[in-house]
Amino acid sequence: MPKEIYDSYENMLFNLDSAAKKLGLDYDDYLSLRYPERELVVSIPVVMDNNHVEVFTGYRVQYSSSRGPCKGGLRYSNDVDINIVKTLAALMTWKSAVVNIPFGGAKGAIRCDPSHLSREELKRITRRYTAMILPLIGPEKDIPAPDINTNDEVMGWIMDTYSMFKGYSVPGVVTGKPLEIGGTLGRQGATGRGVVYIINDIAPLIGFSLVGAKVAIQGFGKVGSILAQLLAHQGSKIIAVCDISGGIYRESGLDIDDLIKYVNNNPSKTIKGYKSPGVTEFPKEEIFYFPVDLFIPAAKENQITASIAKKLNTKIIAEAANGPTLVEADEILESRKIIVIPDILVSAGGLVVSYFEWVQNIQSLMWDESEVNELLMRIMKRAFNEVWAVHQQREVNLRMAAYMLAIDRVVKAKKIRGVFP
Ligand code: GLU
Repeated sequence: MPKEIYDSYENMLFNLDSAAKKLGLDYDDYLSLRYPERELVVSIPVVMDNNHVEVFTGYRVQYSSSRGPCKGGLRYSNDVDINIVKTLAALMTWKSAVVNIPFGGAKGAIRCDPSHLSREELKRITRRYTAMILPLIGPEKDIPAPDINTNDEVMGWIMDTYSMFKGYSVPGVVTGKPLEIGGTLGRQGATGRGVVYIINDIAPLIGFSLVGAKVAIQGFGKVGSILAQLLAHQGSKIIAVCDISGGIYRESGLDIDDLIKYVNNNPSKTIKGYKSPGVTEFPKEEIFYFPVDLFIPAAKENQITASIAKKLNTKIIAEAANGPTLVEADEILESRKIIVIPDILVSAGGLVVSYFEWVQNIQSLMWDESEVNELLMRIMKRAFNEVWAVHQQREVNLRMAAYMLAIDRVVKAKKIRGVFP
C-alpha cells in the first residue's frame, strides 16, 4: 500500500500511472500526459471599494488540448494554489475523455474570499483577470465555466470583457452564461442531474434502490442542493447535509425543497440557522460518520482521507466533487467493498451541458430544455456503460475503469496527431 498521498497532483499522477500500466502503454506514448501543456500565473491589481489597491493571484492551467479546445471551470477561493489548479485541469481532461466530448482540460482560479468582497469588487477582479488571461482563452482555445464560488453573472462579465477586446460579441468564450447572452437552458443543475442519472444507471446492476435509501451529502451548493432535491423526489431520505457553515440532520429525512428555499433567502446562502421539527445540528466534519446507504461528497478535493475511509459507514460513494478521495483511502474503500463511482464519470453533467452551450453558441442555435436533458442523459448513459464494460472485462474498480477509458482516448488522439515538430 502506498504512503498516504496528500499532494493532490501526486494523487492524480498515481491514478494516471496505474491506468497507463494496466493499459500496457509505452512510456513514450503517455509521458507528456504527466505534465500540463501551459500554466499561467497572473497578478491582478484591483482598486477596492475603499480606494486602496489590492493584488490578487490568479491562475489558468491548460492541461491538454489533444482532443479539442481546453475546457474547465474558474474557482474563487482562498484555498487554491498552482498545484491544485493543475490537478483540477488534469481531471477535466480525463472527464472530457470519459464522456467522449471533443474537449481537452483546463482550470482557473483566483485566490480570494468572495464572502468578503462586494459585487463591484468581484466584477473588477473578474474583468482584470479576464484581460490578463486573454491571450489564452477563446472559443477555439480554452473555454472557462462556473466552479466553486462563481456563477452565471461572473461568466457574463468574462464574456463581456473578452468581447470588448475583440470588438464583437463572442458568446462561445465561456459557458454557464445567463440565458439572455447565449447561455443554454438546463445548464444550472446539470452536474447534479448527471450525478443522479449515473446513480440510477448503476442501481439495478448492484442491487441498490434509491427508494428509502439513506443519504448524506457534503456540500449544499450548486451541485449538492440539486442532487439532494432530485434524490429526495425519487424517494431517498437525505438524513444529513453540511456546507461551510455546519451540518444538519434528521433521521426521517430532511425536507430538501424547504431547505433550498431557506438557503436561497439566507443572506449568507448557507444552511446556517435552518430550523425545522426534528432537525438537529452537528459539526460539519462529522458528515462522514452517519450510517447511510449512499454518501455524496459534493464540496471539494482531498476530503476522504485514509482515516475517514476506515470509518465511513456507507455502501456507495458518488463523487460529485472533483478529486474528493485520496489514493490510500481508495484502497481502504475497495477492501471494505464500498463502491466508489468516480468523479470523472459521475460529475461530468455540467461539462456535458457546457459542451451543448458551446455548440449552440458557435452555430447560433437555441435548443429546448428537453433536448438538452435528453441528450445529457444519453451521453451520461453511454459513458456509464463504457466504464462499466471496462470494469467487468478488466476486473478493475470503477475509478480505474474510468481512468483507463479516458487515458486510452487521450493517448490515441496524441498518437494520431504525433509529437510536433
Ligand atoms: N466546474 C465544472 C466541473 O468541474 C464544469 C466545468 C465546465 O463546464 O467546463 O466539471
